[in-house]
Amino acid sequence: MSALSEEQALILETVRRMVEREIAPRAAELDEKAAFPEHAMQLFAANGLLNPLLPQDYGGVGMPVLTFCMVLEEISTACAATALLLIAQADGMLPILEDGSEALKEKFLSRLGGESTQLTALAATEPGAGSDLLAMKTRARKTGDAYVLNGQKCFITNGSVADLISVYACTDPDKGARGISAFVVEKGAPGLSYGKQENKMGMRGSINSEIFFEDVELPAENLIGREGGGFGNLMRTLGKNRLFCAAQATGIARGAYTEAVKYARERVQFGKPIAALSPIQFMVADMAAAIESSRLLTHKAAERFDAGDAEGGALYGGMAKFTASDTAMWVTTDAVQIMGGYGYMKDFAVERMMRDAKLTQIYTGTNQIARMVTGRALLKD
Ligand SMILES: Cc1cc2nc3c(=O)[nH]c(=O)nc-3n(C[C@H](O)[C@H](O)[C@H](O)COP(=O)(O)OP(=O)(O)OC[C@H]3O[C@@H](n4cnc5c(N)ncnc54)[C@H](O)[C@@H]3O)c2cc1C
Repeated sequence: MSALSEEQALILETVRRMVEREIAPRAAELDEKAAFPEHAMQLFAANGLLNPLLPQDYGGVGMPVLTFCMVLEEISTACAATALLLIAQADGMLPILEDGSEALKEKFLSRLGGESTQLTALAATEPGAGSDLLAMKTRARKTGDAYVLNGQKCFITNGSVADLISVYACTDPDKGARGISAFVVEKGAPGLSYGKQENKMGMRGSINSEIFFEDVELPAENLIGREGGGFGNLMRTLGKNRLFCAAQATGIARGAYTEAVKYARERVQFGKPIAALSPIQFMVADMAAAIESSRLLTHKAAERFDAGDAEGGALYGGMAKFTASDTAMWVTTDAVQIMGGYGYMKDFAVERMMRDAKLTQIYTGTNQIARMVTGRALLKD
């Protein structure tokens, strides 16, 4: 990894301070109460960091993808659910930034700049359409100058608290991928309602909702890009989103590793610290090597995106996603192992981190799907 730029060093220093003073002390409570990280939202907004990728044209800081990945890793060392707040913000904003007309960007993205506390979400998944997103049933029918939306989404991060939701719906069921379009739906739209808030295994300081659309009338100008362009838009958004998941997973693994190393140095058994035992040393060595590898792959992908190479970014981002999330899963599991019975107790953060890590293997496309997409890209002529 190349040395940090002055700007990156400054941002990371600010974020580290926030993590130490404001985020880490609340992580266990958010998890315990399954509470939305309201304090972090206010803190990020006050520092112009609630939408880090938002371009300066719309009042954002226009953070490079690489710096954003570093920020996500840093936050995730203490509270992955708080990092997820920023990932969901990027996910909801990117579809509009990617393909929206200038008028659409002006209308919606300019609301997210400065110290705005507006939240966004991306809604693609449905009960019958998870990995198989083309099976989505939510329909958008054009009637004059409007689209009428009917259907249902599930598991949506920030769903019920989002002010703006980028929603994917079928505009022509006979056209497969070319029959899917993307729309902006605003909070409070008549016919928009929310179902249950999911009670999750991990990442509990994050809201995940069912969303229902019942004759939700959208002005035709809320169409993102062209009709039928939604699937391409979704794939490009997911291409970046997988990378953010990789950065988050790297942070979770690093957080657990740090806890385990500290414990191993302090815990005395058979008259000496367990850090002096070879089996513990081997585990720690493997953990450190895998975390470093995950970070390098993540940064390589981020640099590709920053250089304008979206295809290379998505390819390495996919590899980073399954590498870093698998790493996070076994590193957190081994961190619990190193800490023995204490690691299994809720008094220690590694227990939460192990539960949080599991999600990174599942969302933004499961690791099976991420491997399939990567393999296909590598094997194509
Ligand atoms: C906490 C959380 C937050 C989420 N946030 C969002 C969000 O903000 N927006 C959103 O749109 N979605 C969101 N999701 C949805 C998430 O992206 C999906 O859960 C995920 O893509 C998997 O879909 P599924 O759960 O329906 O599993 P399924 O697709 O039913 O998969 C079940 C199993 O089958 C495997 N499988 C399926 N198809 C294949 C295949 N072709 N080859 C090999 N294996 C296969 C999978 O890998 C998995 O192991 C979220 C999910 C969770 C749990």
